[in-house]
Amino acid sequence: MKYVIIGNSAAAVGCIEGIRQEDTKGSITVIASEPYHTYSRPLISYLLYGKTDEQRMKYRPDSFYKEKKCTAMLGRTAEKVNAEAKKVILDNGEEIPYDKLLIAAGSAPFIPPMNGLEKVEKRFTFLSLDDAKALEKAISADSRVLIIGAGLIGLKCAEGICDRVKQITVVDLADRILPSILDEEGSGIVQEHIEKKGIRFFLNDSAAELTDGRVVLKSGTELDFDVLVVAVGVRPNISLAAEAGAETGRGIVTNKKCETTLPDIYAAGDCAQSHDITTGQDRVLALLPNAYMQGECAGINMAGGDKRYDKAIPMNAIGFFGLHIITAGTYDGEVYTVKKGHSYKKLFTKDNRLMGYILIGDIQRAGIYTSLIREKTPLDSIDFDLIREKPQLMAFSRKERSRVLANR
Ligand SMILES: Cc1cc2nc3c(=O)[nH]c(=O)nc-3n(C[C@H](O)[C@H](O)[C@H](O)COP(=O)(O)OP(=O)(O)OC[C@H]3O[C@@H](n4cnc5c(N)ncnc54)[C@H](O)[C@@H]3O)c2cc1C
Repeated sequence: MKYVIIGNSAAAVGCIEGIRQEDTKGSITVIASEPYHTYSRPLISYLLYGKTDEQRMKYRPDSFYKEKKCTAMLGRTAEKVNAEAKKVILDNGEEIPYDKLLIAAGSAPFIPPMNGLEKVEKRFTFLSLDDAKALEKAISADSRVLIIGAGLIGLKCAEGICDRVKQITVVDLADRILPSILDEEGSGIVQEHIEKKGIRFFLNDSAAELTDGRVVLKSGTELDFDVLVVAVGVRPNISLAAEAGAETGRGIVTNKKCETTLPDIYAAGDCAQSHDITTGQDRVLALLPNAYMQGECAGINMAGGDKRYDKAIPMNAIGFFGLHIITAGTYDGEVYTVKKGHSYKKLFTKDNRLMGYILIGDIQRAGIYTSLIREKTPLDSIDFDLIREKPQLMAFSRKERSRVLANR
């Protein structure tokens, strides 16, 4: 059996480990544009922060490909998938035949049209190890950095370089920071915390005109900068699958077995859609644990096993300057809010189920809330009044307790 994987990150690693649970003999070839051993993408900001290094940010040990009996073609890009001939064509013209293929190509930075962007010499995105290295070279203790985008990637970038530059200004079209994961109140708390580090925000605003070193915002505010980081979002890499004839939406369409609509071609991770059980919609859940689990599910099925990926929920665990945040699910239904000092908790319940939550500051035992969402636990089957105040296993019946513990 010849397994081929396009990509070399969380979804690809999940797939390799999934395949090897079922098949220890088949050949696995990994094709990866980036020339590096697999690394944990979220750690690129910690690299700049000085909290990790290239060795420690590896997602698996140096021995990984050898142990899993993989051929890693690092620094090679897959240019085309020929689904009829079952071959992947590389950038050097080489053809790699496959019996089962996984597309785990992730996403690429989205750069919206901005007047004058091309005039800015020192401009960067922040998605890869090479991006982080290039940014590191461009900044100095005197740099004034303008970050466009107050989402997860823009703010992680800000955290990473905060102590290494003179000034950071963040601009976003939205009226609050982290708009995709936080409500207004939660955003306010996190923004206040980040501002204490001297980072400035211009929200509800955008870059109307850029020149090298100066931006005029839509509001009329003018700002000087030395380095620009564009972090407004990402686009799933769907073109290989789409050109091969697979059905695509915002991401590559997959079923619960992580199969695409083409025979023997699977997709996983940030390039693929999965079924969000909290909203009932198929959508891209661009999160590392999701990429790994989807990849693992694909790998098991590619190798002849039988696995379903049917517990996908949006979930973010993130922190900025020591303030921890965990969010999960959908913010729909009746709301229960608790605020204590710098801690903030919001739970959303509907139809006898926990639909979602936001925890800022005190994130202990968030796994219990996550499990209630993932398992769709009926709230009248547990002591939810107790759990709402303080997540604890004692509020579950003995039987429920072992199930929750098993799924955490
Ligand atoms: C700064 C930052 C912070 C983040 N923080 C968090 C966090 O706190 N929590 C969280 O859950 N997630 C976080 N994420 C998101 C997380 O990193 C992604 O969800 C995860 O890496 C997705 O894994 P993946 O395997 O799907 O794809 P990716 O990690 O995007 O990897 C895809 C790989 O495929 C390669 N590739 C693409 N096309 C081709 C081709 N044609 N041929 C060969 N190779 C190709 C790419 O070069 C890339 O190496 C963060 C991301 C960033 C950038």
